[in-house]
Amino acid sequence: MRSLVIGMLLLTSSVAIAQKPKVIASASIFADMAQTIAGDLAEIKSVVPIGGDPHRYEPTPGDAKLVQNADLILINGLTFEGWMQELIENSGTKGKTILITKNIIPIASDLHAGATDPHAWMTASNGLIYIKNIYEALSNLLPENKEELTKNYNAYKAQLEALDAEIFSLIRSIPEGQRVLVTSHDAFNYYGSRYGLTLSAVMGISTESDAQTADMKRVINNIKEFNVPAIFIESTINPKLIQQIATDLKVKIGGELYADSVGEPGSDGDTYIKMLRHNSKTIAEALSGTNFASTKLNKDAGYLNSGVIFGIIAFLLFSILYMIFKLDSTHAKY
Ligand SMILES: [Zn+2]
Repeated sequence: MRSLVIGMLLLTSSVAIAQKPKVIASASIFADMAQTIAGDLAEIKSVVPIGGDPHRYEPTPGDAKLVQNADLILINGLTFEGWMQELIENSGTKGKTILITKNIIPIASDLHAGATDPHAWMTASNGLIYIKNIYEALSNLLPENKEELTKNYNAYKAQLEALDAEIFSLIRSIPEGQRVLVTSHDAFNYYGSRYGLTLSAVMGISTESDAQTADMKRVINNIKEFNVPAIFIESTINPKLIQQIATDLKVKIGGELYADSVGEPGSDGDTYIKMLRHNSKTIAEALSGTNFASTKLNKDAGYLNSGVIFGIIAFLLFSILYMIFKLDSTHAKY
């Protein structure tokens, strides 16, 4: 009897698990967005693991299986994860593919004609468009749970709206001339253009091609020209180049930013909201910091000023002593 009850319980729970729709996102940021809206209503997975680089990702047979069994597939498009299209086509999946950047105004690539910059999620305002697309897709998938999805979506929307205002005020706290963001790859165009930062990156909008000498020169010139106090490494990219530039030019590493992946669980960037907040706080702190070069010049000027003042005082003291001595010796004569 007991084993029968346990057997029935196991069967019921496995049925319950099996009934949850499967949602697959190409990258961890989009999986987190979907998870926040869906809660326990769906089983959500990312193809590219946390910390992986979606630009360079090579899908595994396991990924093909994930996509094959998916009920809903969320992709960014805008030339972010081109390999995903092939994965979907070859998997024979019956799942519906949703382009979650629908209604976003794309930024064109500077380098490649006709190409777009994929990093649209980097502003909270675009994040609002992403989560609306995901919410609509989940509502179509789970019409019977629309009420719960709507509740979760509205709460998420309010958080993103507040975050957008918070990022504006963080970036405005940086002195205007120091709002220059130097990173490994060009993932901050949407961010810079919304929140008001000048950008300079060693690599292009994709990490597929390595940094060129001309790009390195341009970045080095920008750091010198703007007197940039700090430059930044990214969680999904080898920090070697940025570290080398920082050592050569004696600028600090301002911290690690999240661009193409959320942070590891437990890190301060382990959700989409937290990664944007972490980035903005890190950037604001590092760029508001002391501007070494100008401080050094001011200090030099300071030393010069105090030296001159010290000289004048010493000269006056010496003159007074000399006059006293002279008067004394004149008196002594009479
Ligand atoms: Zn990227």
